[in-house]
Amino acid sequence: MRTLARIIAAAVTAASLLTACRLTAPAAGALAAARSPRWETIGSSREGRPVRAVTSGRGGPRVALIAGIHGDEQEGLRHLDEIVALVRDVPRTVRLIADANPDGTAANKRTTASGVDPNRNWPAGNFRAGPRHGPRPLSEPAVAAVHRDLVDFDPALVIVLHAARSGPFVNFDGPARKLAAAFRDGAGAPWHVRPSMGYPTPGSLGTWAGVDRGIPILTIEFARGAPREETGPPLLAGLAAVLDGLMPEPEQGEYFVR
Ligand SMILES: [Zn+2]
Repeated sequence: MRTLARIIAAAVTAASLLTACRLTAPAAGALAAARSPRWETIGSSREGRPVRAVTSGRGGPRVALIAGIHGDEQEGLRHLDEIVALVRDVPRTVRLIADANPDGTAANKRTTASGVDPNRNWPAGNFRAGPRHGPRPLSEPAVAAVHRDLVDFDPALVIVLHAARSGPFVNFDGPARKLAAAFRDGAGAPWHVRPSMGYPTPGSLGTWAGVDRGIPILTIEFARGAPREETGPPLLAGLAAVLDGLMPEPEQGEYFVR
């Protein structure tokens, strides 16, 4: 694990340098392009925008990371290149899904183009049809594409990036208590673990994965509107801590035991 810790530390440094370079040197764009992974299009949104994903890293537990789902919460999406740089060399297989709601992102609004919350449209046991939830689970093409991709990838852990006015904190569903604590410890204060969002979330990704299927899922909530220098370093450090501590098989029901 010392080797892994070293690789992750190097990746965090590289990712941070990439960020620093982008702020100061035009050549950083070319560098980023040369290092960019081969993205696949796994589906398209209602308005025809591509939903993109890439698999990175190798071996180890399989981790799916969704960098954005609510279109007006783009705090995680802006760190996509840094996440790619972080996960490239770690001995974990990471499926990175760029944006589960590209129409919402383009319009800077929470919902899909048809007004459905993409985090209420999952085929969870507690799905409730409605104008904000959709007439049926997976009625939104982008959500259906991400769902299909997750089922195919079969992750041991799902991580999804959001932002909230009451952030930053990490919420979890399923057997992810220790993983959430690992993220908090990596990210540092004022990050904390919030076991419950405090309101019902029928048809959410967290319910579908964590509650119904027992797949640990971390919901990362940045402070809404925080500048990127306040979101990037804790995100990368938190992710590094989670990837470092993730065990290939659960022990005593948890994937993180150290
Ligand atoms: Zn959200």
